[in-house]
Amino acid sequence: MRKIIIAIDGFSSTGKSTIAKQLANKLNYIYVDTGAMYRAVTYFALEHNFIGVDFFHSEKLIENLDKIIITFKFNDIKGFAEVYLNGENIENTIRTLKVSQYVSPVATLSEVRRKLVEQQQLMGKDKGIVMDGRDIGTVVFPDAELKIYMIASAETRAQRRFKELKERGDNLTYEDVLENVTTRDRIDSTRKDSPLVKAEDAIEIDNSKLTIADQLDTILNLASHNISK
Ligand code: C5P
Repeated sequence: MRKIIIAIDGFSSTGKSTIAKQLANKLNYIYVDTGAMYRAVTYFALEHNFIGVDFFHSEKLIENLDKIIITFKFNDIKGFAEVYLNGENIENTIRTLKVSQYVSPVATLSEVRRKLVEQQQLMGKDKGIVMDGRDIGTVVFPDAELKIYMIASAETRAQRRFKELKERGDNLTYEDVLENVTTRDRIDSTRKDSPLVKAEDAIEIDNSKLTIADQLDTILNLASHNISK
């Protein structure tokens, strides 16, 4: 059976990764969370004091990019690949509101994007991959066989993210999360290099009122149709 590339793009917290993970497991494909890669670079920048409340030494981060090695390792218990930075498992550390607050400025840097896009393209060279992010269908894999563009209202998305972070025990308000989601949307869709836009040939799915099972069903149908072409 032929293998394809499935690109899933969309705003923050549209539930892309939940669907992408399940889709990859069903199809026996590799799943790559590209947001985790931008978060890993941001975590590195925070750890080295290259970015903080009122400063961003972007030139220092760029100078040190070759010291950042990002890898993924499949966790059998969780059923997906976790992200590692220079050998350290940072899957949970990068999901904090702090990292979320700094990631979009970091993701505007072309040097950072070039490095990560190159690695993403390598990971997908044999196809059989589900990749989620902001620029997968437009920049990373413009020829992907199936492109999905997920949307949902900012409130629905903030509510989902808030619940997730609360469950982890993070101390924050719904307003903090809503502010972060809308700020990231703005920066991600207005940046110069690879802004978040819907690829012309992407299929839009508004999941504000859809269950995960419904979404998975819809996308699996599209994928099966495509694979058997
Ligand atoms: O997907 P997630 O919300 O974890 O992504 C975190 C951030 O990483 C996004 O808000 C965006 O700034 C950046 N990103 C990106 N391009 C991608 C994936 C993520 O610029 N392909």
